[in-house]
Amino acid sequence: MDDQQLQGFKLQLSALREELLGHLDLSDTASQIVELDQTTVGRLSRMDAIQQQQMSQASRSQYRQRLVKVERALSVIAGNDGSYGCCESCGNQISLERLNNSPESLYCLLCQQRAEE
Ligand SMILES: [Zn+2]
Repeated sequence: MDDQQLQGFKLQLSALREELLGHLDLSDTASQIVELDQTTVGRLSRMDAIQQQQMSQASRSQYRQRLVKVERALSVIAGNDGSYGCCESCGNQISLERLNNSPESLYCLLCQQRAEE
């Protein structure tokens, strides 16, 4: 990977980080709905509100998990030792296609699949 590519991924990751932080801010507000006085929930029944809260908590934890990976990847880039884009498990180069799709990838496709099995 050359410097230009690395800078590109760094920019992508920073943007992703901002986006995820934004989502987490928004869902902070959404998950407070049930805490509010019932009159402010409007036509939503309490059941609906609770369901909505559970969904929003599920996506929150996904955003959180992704944010952790994004920050990890950013710190690997900041470490500037050329290890960004290398699989943390086998040390092989992670394909650029994979990094383009998810620049926060820390493992190559094979190791990821193995981990998920
Ligand atoms: Zn690997």
